[in-house]
Amino acid sequence: MKKRWYDYLWIWSIVYFSLGFFNILFAWLGMIDFLLPLGISIFLGNKKFCNSFCGRGQLFSKLGTDCKCSLNVSAPKWLSKRWFRLSFLAFFLTMFGNMIFQTYLVASGAQSLREAIKLFWTFKVPFGWTYAQGTVIDWVAQFSFGFYSLMLTSTLIGLIVMIFYKPRTWCTFCPMGTMTQEICKLKSASSKEVENTMSNEF
Ligand code: SF4
Repeated sequence: MKKRWYDYLWIWSIVYFSLGFFNILFAWLGMIDFLLPLGISIFLGNKKFCNSFCGRGQLFSKLGTDCKCSLNVSAPKWLSKRWFRLSFLAFFLTMFGNMIFQTYLVASGAQSLREAIKLFWTFKVPFGWTYAQGTVIDWVAQFSFGFYSLMLTSTLIGLIVMIFYKPRTWCTFCPMGTMTQEICKLKSASSKEVENTMSNEF
């Protein structure tokens, strides 16, 4: 099948983490991967981002399937159960909220800038070489460190489950995938409701 431009977005994932490794401010570019899927699901009511534009999902396919880095074993069923996906989403959003709060503390002067990233929400890794003090206001840099931590942690979890299970196992409980799926469900339920109301009226 002829390749389309968006079939190469897995390269973007590698470029993103590489750029952040040299200059943490590039972490802000990850907001595209955050806002675009939400925008598509809210305004178009579909999962086009997951199906075509997600570089991270493509990267797991590339490494797991094409490069055979996956054991290709079925994952435990509970990983794709609704209760787990929603719990993981809630956990992820809490961690996201905490990252925003840390950014706020730096913005308000209550806390100083921490030039480190946190892996798996636990392990602090010094990352000072990626930022020259004073380049931007401190909270902008703090957000970069926090956001890069979240992006890297989720990708590492995805890579781990890719190795031990099927290549796209992460996608079965990815918080963004869960969020967009729930939004699409709500949208289709509300449009069906409108259709029913109209057919009852006429
Ligand atoms: S589920 Fe997550 S990682 Fe998978 S394609 Fe969708 S946004 Fe990307």
